[in-house]
Amino acid sequence: MYNLGGKVALVTGAAGAAGIGRAIALRLAQEGADVAVNDLGEGLGFRAGLPDVVREIEALGARSLAVYADVAQADQVERMVAETLDRFGRIDILVNNAGAPAGRDRVPVIDLAEEDFDLVQRVNVKGVFLCCRAVARHMLERGGGGTIINISSIAGKYGVARFAAYCASKFAVRGFTQALAQELGPQQITVYAICPGLIASERIDDMAAVLAPPGLDASAQREQMISTATHNSPLGRMTEQEDVAKVAAFLASDQSDFMTGASVNVDGGFHMD
Ligand code: NAD
Repeated sequence: MYNLGGKVALVTGAAGAAGIGRAIALRLAQEGADVAVNDLGEGLGFRAGLPDVVREIEALGARSLAVYADVAQADQVERMVAETLDRFGRIDILVNNAGAPAGRDRVPVIDLAEEDFDLVQRVNVKGVFLCCRAVARHMLERGGGGTIINISSIAGKYGVARFAAYCASKFAVRGFTQALAQELGPQQITVYAICPGLIASERIDDMAAVLAPPGLDASAQREQMISTATHNSPLGRMTEQEDVAKVAAFLASDQSDFMTGASVNVDGGFHMD
């Protein structure tokens, strides 16, 4: 539908079986792109599904590659980009999807530990910066053109109690996206942010475990979060991974090429600006 044949994508944080990164990687492959997928290395990470995602992409007839790297470490990001270029020769689409684990940071600011705040900024903001820098340098060296998509959040547009570290990071991603879109526009490199609503990836299990008040277990908290998200959408359902994936495919295609700098909500109309 969006004809990404001949293009090469790199999607970070793609190891979750129910993750947004996996859904985006598969959708880009369905549209014809070859897709390198990244996550933290075994033993370090908290999602282990990268080999499965590679197999799923290959089953769609696309080429794929797993590249283990911490997006918040410059040397590892450089290696990730070099390995992708060695294998595929170019990167046309970068999707910065990796996100710090949701857990100890989901507390009131007065209880928020400095190291938990730092980890969220390190992965969600510095990681986006390092990956954008490395891939933008490559795109410029080969004469421009390309697309960068940064996964922000609806919590990057609206403050939410107990989400201060996360909101700060996701607001930052939108500002960074706009600045980079200004810088790279003249070279026809487009830069977008996507702001998804709540999605039932493994992440919300982690969130429910810390957000559950005394007397409510994590699964009941999870159900409550899902029910609220469902009822807040005029369309009557919560956001699904594929909703984000199809918007990513659109933004990666030439069908969206006059929208650079946009932050696109994908939350079923819960928020409308
Ligand atoms: P997820 O936890 O499955 O995805 C995040 C992935 O990033 C994980 O696989 C994790 O291992 C990886 N990761 C963490 N630190 C990393 C690092 N330093 N280097 C490389 N990879 C690292 O959860 P998800 O819901 O699929 O989230 C994907 C993105 O979407 C995140 O940026 C998240 O903030 C954002 N988001 C999620 C929701 C939601 O409700 N699930 C809503 C809006 C935005």
